[in-house]
Amino acid sequence: MRTTPHGPPTPDFQPLLDEIAAALRPQAGQQGKVASYIPALARVNAAQFGIALRTCEGAEAAAGDCDTPFSIQSVSKLFSLTMCLQLIGEALWQRVGREPSGNPFNSLVQLESEHGLPRNPFINAGAIAVADRLVSQGRSAGDLAAMLSDLAGTAIEIDEEVAASEAATGFRNHALANFMKSFGKIDNDVAPVLELYFRQCALRMNCRQLARAAGYLCRDGGHPGGGATPVLTERQARRVNALMLTCGTYDMAGEFAFLIGLPCKSGVGGGIVAVVPDRLTLSVWSPALDASGNSWLGMRALEMFVARTGLSVF
Ligand code: GLU
Repeated sequence: MRTTPHGPPTPDFQPLLDEIAAALRPQAGQQGKVASYIPALARVNAAQFGIALRTCEGAEAAAGDCDTPFSIQSVSKLFSLTMCLQLIGEALWQRVGREPSGNPFNSLVQLESEHGLPRNPFINAGAIAVADRLVSQGRSAGDLAAMLSDLAGTAIEIDEEVAASEAATGFRNHALANFMKSFGKIDNDVAPVLELYFRQCALRMNCRQLARAAGYLCRDGGHPGGGATPVLTERQARRVNALMLTCGTYDMAGEFAFLIGLPCKSGVGGGIVAVVPDRLTLSVWSPALDASGNSWLGMRALEMFVARTGLSVF
């Protein structure tokens, strides 16, 4: 494992994040739409923008609405995948693939032609398959909250109202889970699997906490708070980054790689986590989404960050 990051000493990123927030925050809510298919998310004020980063050395910078908690939604798939890799390692890949889907995140079509094996762990079907593996290991969304609390160094909670709202209206996710079960690709009852999935999506975090919690991804799996036990092995962390780059931003992964060039994971709550390997983790949030489900302003913020710093994996 590399213990020191490459490149020159870490610059002070605070002025840059202030500049990005000053330029973009006034535009928050002007383009895109807040996710409305989960009723509890539809009420979120779109005119918000936050950004935060944490370097591998532990330096932090943050601006805008960086302390406002939001529903992390699909960003949680990063952390459930991480927990699953900790518990069962390579065996996970018998139940989920590693290819971009090129389809909407909640699509049923591909699942039928591919006999219930989801393309990757970041589409809904794949995350439900991961949730099934976690249930088999006796894990719950509460365990994910505990893992995140440890990684972020502060208590992380589940928004039970959002979880209940999604459980009551998540007909398509019920369909996906039952469909996979019909192919023998889900071992447990569908109900506890979906309970874990809906509650993990309802985890509430702010930008600062997300940038901290994802820190193991820029430090080859090492614990972001300096804990002795690595979160993932170096090989696993690199593979999670590869999956983020190819599959982390719905069917816009190609555009993200082209415009931003960083491993990213987004969620319909408007959050996006990005990794600059060996340097830093960055988190942006603005609730209004573009047609693909990615935060419209979050994407602009990442473009601006990369343009100003030259930090990209390419
Ligand atoms: N809980 C959401 C769903 O399953 C997550 C979607 C997302 O953030 O991509 O529809």
